[in-house]
Amino acid sequence: MAAEQQVAIVIHGGAGTIKRENLSDEQEKAIKKDLQAALDAGYAILERGGDSTQSIIAAIKILEDSEHFNAGKGAVYTKPGKHELDASIMRGNDLEAGAVAGVSYTKNPILAAEQVMLNSPHVMLAGSGADTFSQLKGLEQVKNSYFDTPARYKAWQEVETKTKAKNADQASQQDVLDAEFKFGTVGAVAVDQNGDIAAGTSTGGMTYKAWGRVGDSPVIGAGTYADNRSCGISATGHGEFFIRYTVASDICARVRYQKLTLQQAAQEVIMTELKAVGGSGGVIGMDPKGKPVMVFNTSGMYRGYKTPESSKVAIYGDE
Ligand code: ASP
Repeated sequence: MAAEQQVAIVIHGGAGTIKRENLSDEQEKAIKKDLQAALDAGYAILERGGDSTQSIIAAIKILEDSEHFNAGKGAVYTKPGKHELDASIMRGNDLEAGAVAGVSYTKNPILAAEQVMLNSPHVMLAGSGADTFSQLKGLEQVKNSYFDTPARYKAWQEVETKTKAKNADQASQQDVLDAEFKFGTVGAVAVDQNGDIAAGTSTGGMTYKAWGRVGDSPVIGAGTYADNRSCGISATGHGEFFIRYTVASDICARVRYQKLTLQQAAQEVIMTELKAVGGSGGVIGMDPKGKPVMVFNTSGMYRGYKTPESSKVAIYGDE
């Protein structure tokens, strides 16, 4: 272990129009409690010499199991009123990666992504094949209704009502954003005592998404990226933009080739490039020295980090 190597973890629980007036004190407290639990679980693994991959999985699993976040339990509803979940994971030391898209029965999609990375020759599995694979790997399977929550159902109903009123086939993008962009995806990035970075992301996607729609979260290079030579990134936001702008890998490329700091690179991509074209969202990231960054162009992002010196959880932009 290099003497100057610092272990650290950074997490997010989604970015969007998250405003004080929309959250009660109890909700705020409950959300922060789950963010803190995820940070503590991930950090504890790093502290006792564990690796960054296990650290981010521990953190993401807690957020998937919390109904406050749009991943695992509490995932948003698709247009037909079901749940289809996406997740991905990447290791920065060997650029190994795994992802699942559109799983319906796998309780913790991040574990399925890990299995794809470790025990398959592939990087991404989708749909029923991904569920079958995760079942074969012994991962817990649940009924699709396990992911149901009243809050997400209400958001689905809001969009459904607006769509019907307009007599349109699909909800307009703005309707979807209005309903969904209060809560979001989860993700974590960590660096361990060997200086190895890992990043992972898990989501239910966007409310009222069309059948089979896949966002950026399971797309390596868009929603997740990790490379020890530059940084690790997990993104949240309007996935179609994050895919087209290959957000996660673009940030890492700026660090690697332009020698920008991670903070500078993330600022450029999120606050300049994406903002200019209306791509809302944010990223968390970690450089190889264990310095966390959290950058978003929305009013809030559920987020937090823990390093040997400091720890913080926050929700709104002005915190
Ligand atoms: N990025 C996710 C998606 O487009 C949504 C989110 O982050 O809230 O599926």
